[in-house]
Amino acid sequence: MADAPVTTKPAVLILLGPPGAGKGTQARMLQEDFGLVQLSTGDLLRAAVAQGTPAGLAAKAVMEAGGLVSDDIVLAILRDRMAEPDVSHGIILDGFPRTDGQASALDALLDETGQSVTAAISMEVDDGAMVDRVAGRYTCAKCGEGYHDSFKVPAKAGVCDKCGSTEFKRRPDDNAETVRARLEAYHDQTAPLIAYYEGQGVLKRVDAMGEIADVRAELAGIVKDVAG
Ligand code: AMP
Repeated sequence: MADAPVTTKPAVLILLGPPGAGKGTQARMLQEDFGLVQLSTGDLLRAAVAQGTPAGLAAKAVMEAGGLVSDDIVLAILRDRMAEPDVSHGIILDGFPRTDGQASALDALLDETGQSVTAAISMEVDDGAMVDRVAGRYTCAKCGEGYHDSFKVPAKAGVCDKCGSTEFKRRPDDNAETVRARLEAYHDQTAPLIAYYEGQGVLKRVDAMGEIADVRAELAGIVKDVAG
């Protein structure tokens, strides 16, 4: 009898962690290292706000206050994005799911194509350090490279190391007061998902307090292990 054809399903990785844990930074690196596609609901929502779509208009005030946008809006945006062809390379979900309802909806969506979550990686950090991490961060307006007032400044002041642009931007919700609300939303509604994925046997934990390069190496090890 002929061997069954080997079919590898695209990896579905989730990065879980509070604001400031480094989800976006590390998702971008996993995209570079493994060709996975970063899928950030925060980025998708910010784009919707910038474009003034109905979803963006509904989400704007909630985002500015550091609350969670309704599951309906987030799921509609995510479904649209997951219908695009590039997700067949495998995805890293950054900032999604954030509630029980989103986690079950993701399972149902993946089930439609015979997929499931490959790994949910909890990026573990000390809460106390997160306000300073988030309140000082900014990105290159052109290429998106991340910087920080204290921890990572460009080699030449005011010039992006990666693309040479001199324009930078800060997120309006990266201020101390909003970060506290976002941390609260994380603990109330998102942290319980750690137990949810532990129950599914797909949870991995990473110490995300270390240097960016060390966290990157640890994550790469996990990805090679589960999806290599
Ligand atoms: P982030 O870029 O992941 O920090 O998200 C920025 C903001 O967008 C959050 O503080 C929420 O207001 C909103 N947001 C992003 N992703 C979600 C999600 N999965 N569910 C609800 N709100 C979200």
